[in-house]
Amino acid sequence: MPKRTTRVNARVGRGTESMAEFPRQKDDELYKAVGQFLSDQKLSVEPANYAFAYRVLSDPAGPLARSVAALTDGGVRLTAHDIAELGGPEAASGAPQPCLDEGLAEPHTARVAAEAEAMIARAEMQVADFSRAVRSIHEETSGFGRDLAASAAAMRMAAPVAGLDEVVRLTAAMIDRAHAAERRMAAAEQEAEALRSALDEAHGTARRDPLTELANRRAFDEAYAGLPPGTPIALALCDIDHFKRVNDEFGHAVGDRVLRAVGATIAGECASAVVARYGGEEFALLFVGVDSDAAIALVDRARSAVAARRFRSRATDAPIGVVTISGGVAAGTSDEPREALYARADAALYRAKAAGRNCAFCAA
Ligand code: GH3
Ligand code: MG
Ligand code: MG
Repeated sequence: MPKRTTRVNARVGRGTESMAEFPRQKDDELYKAVGQFLSDQKLSVEPANYAFAYRVLSDPAGPLARSVAALTDGGVRLTAHDIAELGGPEAASGAPQPCLDEGLAEPHTARVAAEAEAMIARAEMQVADFSRAVRSIHEETSGFGRDLAASAAAMRMAAPVAGLDEVVRLTAAMIDRAHAAERRMAAAEQEAEALRSALDEAHGTARRDPLTELANRRAFDEAYAGLPPGTPIALALCDIDHFKRVNDEFGHAVGDRVLRAVGATIAGECASAVVARYGGEEFALLFVGVDSDAAIALVDRARSAVAARRFRSRATDAPIGVVTISGGVAAGTSDEPREALYARADAALYRAKAAGRNCAFCAA
């Protein structure tokens, strides 16, 4: 099992300290978190590495921290290349700061998704920098334009002086230019806004399964990781029974439609849960603040709703027949590692399959 690394979004500081104590305690906790981060990532205690860790941890919700969280998802360590890409030590100095471990093996697709996520976060940082720069230039040019306009008005009121016409003409030309610059700045701000919403969209797309439009495995895992400690939860797995038969008899396209319909039915019946397509024809559900009895009742409701549907092939109108799902539920708290709760739910699902399918079992 991969080694767990520092939770980048670990809370720094609590809400109950007196105002005088708070900054100090906050600093202490940040200091400890930075040490833990360097140790987890096997980074040497160089000032540049320390500065990088500080940047990550001092803004836990920021794009850099999110980027690091995406790259280290599942306990994978940052590589020297990752750190350089994120503007860390190597990029700053040109000299590689030893990252003592090049990271654990990770499935290719997860790695690609993590890199895409890191790219989105980097682009978000660049857009944020760009719009900050545009805003400040905009403020300066509009201030400049106002000053010029005021000076021009004052000059017009003044007694005639030799050469004043030329000064007024030049000032008017400068006012025009300031206004043109302001218009360009406003357009650039709009462009930054459009980029920001495109990035938000990309961020959402990275967490959605394109076939069913449900959350994907990544979103599910993030929802689990974001639960406050000690939260009572139940994790359920629902798997379509004999799904291979649907593909074999009716083709993959029909199989896809059935998958979408089953996903929508489960999500509709279990609206309070995070419902994700976790694998091929397997759905994972996360119930928060729900015990095993309530969770199994909801899963069973979804199971009978799926079994009640009658599918037909759109092309030939041939009946596909009854499609069923089996379910496994495991209850616990968010303190239990996701993998452990998943394994218990999977064992319960296996029992449901062995018991003849179209039923749901609860883990012991
Ligand atoms: P069981 O009741 O034991 O779960 O039987 P099963 O046939 O559902 O399970 P099996 O694991 O043998 O086969 C799963 C099938 O799901 C095989 C695979 O082609 C199909 N599948 C997985 N993902 C997709 C998909 O995205 N679209 C389609 N159409 N089929 C998929
Ligand atoms: Mg199946
Ligand atoms: Mg399966």
